[in-house]
Amino acid sequence: MATIEVLPPKASTLCTTNADHYIGVHRIFCVGQNYAEHVAEMGGDPKENPPIFFMKPNSAVVASGAIISFPPATENLHHEVELVVVLKSGGANIKVGEALGHIYGYAVGNDLTRRDIQTVAKSTGSPWDMAKGFDNSAVIGTVHSVAEVGHPITGTVQCSVDGEVRQCGNLTQMIWSVPEIIATLSTLVSLQAGDIIMTGTPAGVGPIARYQTCLCEIEGLSNASITFKA
Ligand code: MN
Repeated sequence: MATIEVLPPKASTLCTTNADHYIGVHRIFCVGQNYAEHVAEMGGDPKENPPIFFMKPNSAVVASGAIISFPPATENLHHEVELVVVLKSGGANIKVGEALGHIYGYAVGNDLTRRDIQTVAKSTGSPWDMAKGFDNSAVIGTVHSVAEVGHPITGTVQCSVDGEVRQCGNLTQMIWSVPEIIATLSTLVSLQAGDIIMTGTPAGVGPIARYQTCLCEIEGLSNASITFKA
């Protein structure tokens, strides 16, 4: 009888508003540049580009309310408040009109970014992995089911650092809608239950320092907050 000699840690889990229900996180897909004003502040052209996808490992998940060490290898850690979509099922080549049926629910996320590393990666045409996929880089709040909150398409998307508002957008400003994101992504990979999608951030991204608390909020959903130690 063969045995597995090396076992990885169990998948990260997300809390839901039902204390008995947890989400096992499979993969974390992220959309780059999905709010026009943010595309402009990063020097891009909002109109021309199809959605940009990148990934974080599921080990990057950290729950809201955690107090964590400041990430290594950066002096320019940025916040990005985002709507997070949690899939309960998947498939390839999902039609836009059928995409919402694959969603378990929604949460608030913070796509923490080592902007200094990303800036170098962009300038050299190198991968973004180490800018985006580091430990504790995916702050995710409590997941609300579709039965509870429906499919949010409007609502304030806000991020504040130590009480100072840095980002304040609205879900209506998303360039690519959630169904369009799911449909496009499913032409690239076969989506699966437990995949989550961070859907992009509005304008106003900026640095978080050691000992600061970063609070991400979307109307109608539970907050995603993170505090940094030294
Ligand atoms: Mn992002």
